[in-house]
Amino acid sequence: MKEILFNKDFTCIAVSKTKPVEKIREIYELGHRDFGENKVQELEVKFNSLPKDIRWHMIGHLQTNKVKKIIPFISLIHSVDSFKLLDFINNESKKLNKITDCLIQVNISEEEQKFGFNPNNLDFLENSNLKDKKFIKIRGFMGMASFTDKTSIIRNEFKSLKELYDVYSNKLNDFNILSMGMSSDYNIAIEEGSNMIRIGSKIFGERNYL
Ligand SMILES: *Cc1c(COP(=O)(O)O)cnc(C)c1O
Repeated sequence: MKEILFNKDFTCIAVSKTKPVEKIREIYELGHRDFGENKVQELEVKFNSLPKDIRWHMIGHLQTNKVKKIIPFISLIHSVDSFKLLDFINNESKKLNKITDCLIQVNISEEEQKFGFNPNNLDFLENSNLKDKKFIKIRGFMGMASFTDKTSIIRNEFKSLKELYDVYSNKLNDFNILSMGMSSDYNIAIEEGSNMIRIGSKIFGERNYL
């Protein structure tokens, strides 16, 4: 596990959703500081009860009416999936005079995924409209591969996101994060050029959803 948590080739986000704060503290005590959650309410509770040098990552779908709650403390939002959300994040960040780091979630999966921008519709990243949102910094892309045993499909999806990432990282400033890979597929993701992985069950054990 330590090879995943402390690897100089990539950043590991320990995905602690559904897990109690004591479990997070155990990983924190090892020296790890990047943790990911997918629900705003859970994020708030954990932020309030854990050390303040933790870098919190929002990795799940974010509703616009909840943006306000996380802007004060969020380190990176991985799941920006609409223009409306970009507007809300910019406006709430402006109120606090904070620049919020964001990743654009790209829908790379074969299967129907509910969230994420279409990979063919990313031109907006170069538009002045986005550049005018001074309180957002787009740091890169986040993507999730199809839920399948066929590694060739997963590999191709990661490959396609890496290609897009290369295009934009050459054009945009500070665009240097490629968040792809979870417990089941992070090895493939790393081979295909990921530099940020989001690992839950492999660190904390399986989740029980009640
Ligand atoms: C839950 C989750 C993860 C981690 O999943 P594991 O399979 O437990 O590693 C990664 N990314 C997102 C967006 C998630 O919701």
